[in-house]
Amino acid sequence: MAQTPPTNNILARALLSPVFAALILLAFLALASGLRYGMTRQDTNQIQANLANEAVALVDHLEREFTIHAEAISRMAARLKVVPETTEASWRADARSYLDDFGVYQAIEWIDRDFVIRWLEPVSGNQDVVGYNVAFSDRRREALETARTTGQYDISGIIDLKQGGKGLVIYAPVGTGAGNNGFIAGVFRIETLVEQLLTSRVLQSFQVDVQDNGELGYRLNGLTETSEGFAHTETVNIPTLDWTLTIRPSETWVASHRSAWPWVTFTAVVLMGLLTSLTTLLAQLILKRNRALLKTRRELEQEIDQRKVIQQDLARLESTDTLTGLANRRFFMEDLSHTLGIARRQNRQVALVMLDLDRFQMLNDSLGHQFGDELLARVAERLNTLSNERIMVAYSGGDEFMFCQQQVEAVDDVIHLLGQIKQCFEAPFEVQDENHRITATMGVAVYPQSGKDADTLLRNADIALYRAKEQGRNSYQFYTEGMQEREVNRLELDKDLDMALANNEFVLYFQPQVDLGTGEIYSVEALIRWQHPRRGLLPPVEFIPLAEESGRITDIGRWVVAAACRQLAAWKGTACGNLRIAINLSGRELDDDRLVDDIRETLAAEHVPANRLEVELTEEIFIQNIEHNRNQLSRLHDLGVNLAIDDFGVGYSSLGYLRDFPVDLLKIDRSFITSVTERHDDAVITRAVINLAHNLGIQVIAEGVEKEEQLTFLRQHGCNLVQGYLISRPIPAVELEKALSEGTLGLGTPERSGL
Ligand code: C2E
Ligand code: CA
Ligand code: CA
Repeated sequence: MAQTPPTNNILARALLSPVFAALILLAFLALASGLRYGMTRQDTNQIQANLANEAVALVDHLEREFTIHAEAISRMAARLKVVPETTEASWRADARSYLDDFGVYQAIEWIDRDFVIRWLEPVSGNQDVVGYNVAFSDRRREALETARTTGQYDISGIIDLKQGGKGLVIYAPVGTGAGNNGFIAGVFRIETLVEQLLTSRVLQSFQVDVQDNGELGYRLNGLTETSEGFAHTETVNIPTLDWTLTIRPSETWVASHRSAWPWVTFTAVVLMGLLTSLTTLLAQLILKRNRALLKTRRELEQEIDQRKVIQQDLARLESTDTLTGLANRRFFMEDLSHTLGIARRQNRQVALVMLDLDRFQMLNDSLGHQFGDELLARVAERLNTLSNERIMVAYSGGDEFMFCQQQVEAVDDVIHLLGQIKQCFEAPFEVQDENHRITATMGVAVYPQSGKDADTLLRNADIALYRAKEQGRNSYQFYTEGMQEREVNRLELDKDLDMALANNEFVLYFQPQVDLGTGEIYSVEALIRWQHPRRGLLPPVEFIPLAEESGRITDIGRWVVAAACRQLAAWKGTACGNLRIAINLSGRELDDDRLVDDIRETLAAEHVPANRLEVELTEEIFIQNIEHNRNQLSRLHDLGVNLAIDDFGVGYSSLGYLRDFPVDLLKIDRSFITSVTERHDDAVITRAVINLAHNLGIQVIAEGVEKEEQLTFLRQHGCNLVQGYLISRPIPAVELEKALSEGTLGLGTPERSGL
């Protein structure tokens, strides 16, 4: 697994920590606070601006009202100046009409040029001030003097009224300079003025401070609770007055002007923050869970991988043969099916080779299973060197091996492989410190022509192997269509064999053996034939191997013994009365423990002396199962039965057994006789066998004698007996009897009848 960089790891861990979610919440809180602060500030500014507007409106109103009143008073003064003889009564009427028009005055007064109040209206509530000198301070006097000089009106600051309370007076001079006739004064009571000037809305919402010359002159509407931090001051523009107005809003006013947005925004952003951090927490949880799941999955996958490895190991163990280490038959067949599937798609050929070790069974029996196993292992080792991606080698069981060759282009590829296999057997195999030469026989079936599926291919390779074995060992055969037919025939015959004995379908033919010393016939070889109901007369090669395989050979052998003995009994007193009959016994028949007893009983039953019977055995039985066979042969010999070794010379180089077994006759194999006059080595071997036998005190017979020259050679070298077509083919008993009685059998007159 790749190592993730540490920075990535730290980052991932930080992102997955709950602190990260908390940080997000904090960030949103900060953002919300910032926004709220900003918006509140803006809101406050807006409120301030509103307040300023209110103040400006208020001051405007104040200025306008003052101007109106000041001008009204000035007009009264102007009228008095124009009509200096105005009587007190008419002045009073004039003043009253003013008072009616402007309800705001506390009083309207006429002040003489010495600044003393003379007339006033209304009298009630003001009578105390008549005669009062309004120039009560130097500053007042100066202001009034200035007004008299300029003709401009003058406004007193906020003063304590003689009538009580706070008030304000507008003085309008009646004429300027020396022509001045005092002043007309309008007296305002502040409360009244304020009530006139300010609307109830303003009164409810604001506290208004009037600063006169920088000092608090009057506080209007002393509200108990004004909002902290909010105030606006505006200068009042009225001639002669140095006034500023400061208004402070009530908390209710401020509250009513406050916007809800800062809080709404704040709450919304905080909620968003909460949501985001919650989502983050959730996402972290999911991620962590995912990680845990991933980890579990990885662990599971590792577990599965481990199991797969174990399973593969198990499969390998199951698919391998423990003795040879090669693939076993089951695995081979599975693989073959698979291979054929691929070959089908790719239009390719596949070759299946079945290999059988020649004479392995015999070696195994004679040298022991331990030896057999070791030999198999050595052979497997060598064959396995051929395995590659195109060739699979397997052990099928017993002494059989199998090869599967893929991607076969032409038959040459297979032939090449067969050559390589054959080479594997060239050098001897060292088993138990001894070298052993061994050969192999092979059957080949090629996909698709010799079979479309693994089973058919295997069966056909088997058939080809079987045929190869029939043709002689150490060779190979390709499967052909005809083989299938023959195989069917073989199987049919095998079935028919069941009934052959019961139906008495076997017959014995007899082939005479001529004594070269006398030219007489003393013995015949009994050769079995099968009178098949449909196929006609069948030679032994067509059914003896079948019978050996199926085990029926024991019964057939018993029948041969009985038939031979019956024949010997029947010949008593005839021309054939002196003949000895040689019967053939296969190794399988010798395995039967009852054999010797059977023969003895049959001979006795037919009253035939034992020396009238001869038994021909091939060399193999002297090598296989030695103890048992020697015992069997000794008992037969003791019984008086003659023993001959058939096909001598083709089998084994070891001749030691000749010493240990009670042998009466050696039969030189036909293969040596056929070319004995043409091939030097055959002649040498034949001579050697004759000499060897004679040196051991054993008689020699040559079989397959077809030509005069062969006979001459044998005679020259002292061969005792001859048998072959030159004298006679194997013939039925009646023919033999006839020929013998007529004396037509003998040397030089080849008998052409029979099989
Ligand atoms: P075998 O024991 O070697 O028998 C000799 C075979 O050579 C016989 O074939 C015989 O017909 C043939 N033969 C004889 N002279 C000549 C000749 O001049 N030229 C040629 N080309 N062939 C000749 P057959 O009768 O077909 O028997 C074949 C084999 O069958 C026998 O070989 C023997 O091994 C086996 N056999 C025959 N009868 C019996 C039997 O009753 N029991 C058993 N177990 N095997 C038998
Ligand atoms: Ca024979
Ligand atoms: Ca023979």
